[in-house]
Amino acid sequence: MIAEKSRAIVIRTVPFGETSSVVSLFCREFGKVRALAKGAWRPKSSFDGGLDLLSTCQVLVLRKTSGGLDLLTEAFLENRFRVGGSYRAFLGGMHVAELLEALTADADPQPELFDRAHATLRELSGLDEPADRIPALLVSAELAFLRLTGHAPALAVCAECRVPLTSHSRTPFGMLDGGCLCGRCRAGKRAVVSISVDGLAVLRLLAVQPDAWRDVALPAAVAGELRAIMTTYLSHLLGRPPRVARLLQPRMAPRQARTE
Ligand SMILES: [Zn+2]
Repeated sequence: MIAEKSRAIVIRTVPFGETSSVVSLFCREFGKVRALAKGAWRPKSSFDGGLDLLSTCQVLVLRKTSGGLDLLTEAFLENRFRVGGSYRAFLGGMHVAELLEALTADADPQPELFDRAHATLRELSGLDEPADRIPALLVSAELAFLRLTGHAPALAVCAECRVPLTSHSRTPFGMLDGGCLCGRCRAGKRAVVSISVDGLAVLRLLAVQPDAWRDVALPAAVAGELRAIMTTYLSHLLGRPPRVARLLQPRMAPRQARTE
């Protein structure tokens, strides 16, 4: 076994035996790993609260050279995820963890993705009610995660023929085709929704400017529309509905992301 240090985000913990845990970590230096933390729940363990869900910590992992679980020997807390007063912020954090789990392969380091996920969790951890910036923050993070894992939806050109899209009151968005479609390519496609001018403008802005979510004013109708589109897009990509994202859908959202 080789001992390696890394910064890591705790994306899942499952109790193992009386006092241990199997922990899923998204590590900056060596990607996603599953490791056994022996005695994690004993008083005075060598993990010192570093294994709380969604926290960022410095870890020392003994990597197995062939199959089986890695062994986590130390974890020092760097940032704890503060649940605070916002349930939506907590759900947002859980959604980030789910996407890191689902969009990455084991042992595939992606430092830029780690940095963006860490920054998103720090923002969510500091947000109290009113939480009106959370929808734009999450869409911004989702678009970044999708870009960094090679699944960015086409927003400015047709996903199929790559011609620049012209402006219409609503633009077809092909869930199976990887984004927006021109009128010609839309014909005969399945799983196509339409996106409003305002919704598409916000998506394009969030896709190219990492900090735009701080200032973008997201009317409830647009927030509901974008949430529905991102959740549906992720469902098709993952082959199953994301577990947390449906809980993020605003309750009073008007009919959006309608099928054409
Ligand atoms: Zn086209």
